[in-house]
Amino acid sequence: MIHEALRATLFPALSRMVMHPDVTSLLAVQHDDLGIYALEARLASLAPRLAILEKERAKVSVALERARKATEAEEARHREARGRTETHRQLLERSQRQYESVTSPREATAALTQLEQTKRMVDESERDASHVQGRVNELRHQIADLEKQLADVEARQVEARSSLDADRVAIEREMSDARTKRERTADAVPRSMLHTYDRVRTRRRSETVFPLRAQSCSACDTAIPTQRRAAMAASGSLEMCEGCGVLLYAAE
Ligand SMILES: [Zn+2]
Repeated sequence: MIHEALRATLFPALSRMVMHPDVTSLLAVQHDDLGIYALEARLASLAPRLAILEKERAKVSVALERARKATEAEEARHREARGRTETHRQLLERSQRQYESVTSPREATAALTQLEQTKRMVDESERDASHVQGRVNELRHQIADLEKQLADVEARQVEARSSLDADRVAIEREMSDARTKRERTADAVPRSMLHTYDRVRTRRRSETVFPLRAQSCSACDTAIPTQRRAAMAASGSLEMCEGCGVLLYAAE
């Protein structure tokens, strides 16, 4: 096999007809890399799908948590209200006894006033306790409702989550295969060329190597000087486009 550089010197017209084998190998690597980028994009697209599920579940679970906290607070208030009722009932019994043991009309009037006042206090604290009890009952219904909603959401999401998980596993497997294949493809490319390519590719994270089109970069149309084009065609070397920073090769 004639060395490419030698052939370029001997048959400049012929050398322009074929692509340098190193470039062909590099394009195969680029093809693999673009496949890996596409897989990475697919993997990244799973995140918003999962986020939607999480958000839907969180909406119910947050409401449930809030209802549970509110219930605890109302239950504490109910205990206090019942304690007050108990205290007022004891006061009422005492007033009752006082009223029954009066010995003069004047004492009777005072005791009656006291009795009526404690009765009102008992009534008030009972009303308060029953009002709080009503709120507790309401909240307990709400909790039962939300628990059911949460169970429904979770049941509905089982399929979506397992499909998401299956997608992730499948993509990760493809990714691992694609990376192995890429390593093998890259073996055919000279190290220094691969190094240059990887450096530019890491920055671009997309197509990195472009052919010359006529006398210009096919990515941005910047004209490439004749001398550089000749060198690229002869040696199969890559040249960075000064216009857009991609790596250029001589395609024909
Ligand atoms: Zn360019």
